[in-house]
Amino acid sequence: MGEGEASEAAPARATAEGGERRFPCKRCGAQLAFAPGTYALRCAHCGARNEIELDETAIEELDFGAYLARLEDGEAHEDRIVSPCVSCGARVELPTNVTSGPCPFCSKTVVATGRSEKLVRPASLLPFKVDKRRAREQFGAWIQKLWFAPRDLKKAAVIDGRLRGVYLPYWTYDSGVVTDYTGRRGVYYWVTQTYTTMVNGKPQIRTRQVRKTRWYPASGRVRNFFDDLLVPASTSLPPDQMHKLEPWDIAELTPYADEFLAGFGSESYAVNLPTGFERAKEMMVPEIRATICRDIGGDEQQVTTMNPSYHSVTFKHLLLPVWICAYRYRDRVFRILVNARTGEVIGDRPWSWKKISFAVAVGITILVAAVAVFLVVFNN
Ligand SMILES: [Zn+2]
Ligand SMILES: [Zn+2]
Repeated sequence: MGEGEASEAAPARATAEGGERRFPCKRCGAQLAFAPGTYALRCAHCGARNEIELDETAIEELDFGAYLARLEDGEAHEDRIVSPCVSCGARVELPTNVTSGPCPFCSKTVVATGRSEKLVRPASLLPFKVDKRRAREQFGAWIQKLWFAPRDLKKAAVIDGRLRGVYLPYWTYDSGVVTDYTGRRGVYYWVTQTYTTMVNGKPQIRTRQVRKTRWYPASGRVRNFFDDLLVPASTSLPPDQMHKLEPWDIAELTPYADEFLAGFGSESYAVNLPTGFERAKEMMVPEIRATICRDIGGDEQQVTTMNPSYHSVTFKHLLLPVWICAYRYRDRVFRILVNARTGEVIGDRPWSWKKISFAVAVGITILVAAVAVFLVVFNN
């Protein structure tokens, strides 16, 4: 049966794959889905391969300041239908032909509210490379290693039903930074101290070398340049999980085309362009501070004030692919993620209290037995 017929007759099925946009097969008209690891859409009905026509122009870095001004004018946007998940707040983008579907982040049903928002269009993305079969294998291997995991999660079918491919929104920023600073340079010097110690019950005078620091005022100006600082624009996943998904092969970015999203869900950004740049500024601080410390020199440095100014700021809005398996266990949401470029698995570890209690009971029994044996041997 063709995917096209399936999605027309049973929308629930179409949304089970994380949502589909309308891309009819050139040969038979059936619904196409992006084929991970390729640059083509594959027809499940007739097997035809439909190559995605890539925009050959280089992926543009957009000027931050000019773009912000255009954003305020309402330009540089496109209308996208965002359906916030009432359960977890994820900003799910359901395809135009779908009215409801499971939230990829928490597995509760999201209903299209039809709220249209003006959003910055993604400029580029990393297409899915890890397909569903490999993602399932990765999940399976990972969960098998968890001794305390609830048993039903180890069933392949359970994972399969909850596995969804989603593109997560990100910003990247480039920026030059000029930073005026004030601080102090510490230079070590050594002094000889005399002290009294007791040797064989008698006081004796000794000397020792003690390190001291002399502080001098320091000030100056340093320059840094940051290239492609990656800022997550989704707030649906905890920051530490987003961080663990890194590194991404950003050098492989492909110009954005709707076709790459065929068969996959996506999320709209929840962190907007200016707020994203504030995050990027925080990410710059350690490197700027390190540059200042090198500039101050000496043996130790203190930075009192830092006054950075930013220039030549450009940005890109991009989408990165993950497989998410969200499941509820005892009223808590757990998620396992697979970086759909590298296959790396990141996840919450659900603990089965039944198994843990059993393990603890076994442990205590062994301990009690060991103590008993020890006491018997010791007393004899
Ligand atoms: Zn076809
Ligand atoms: Zn949700």
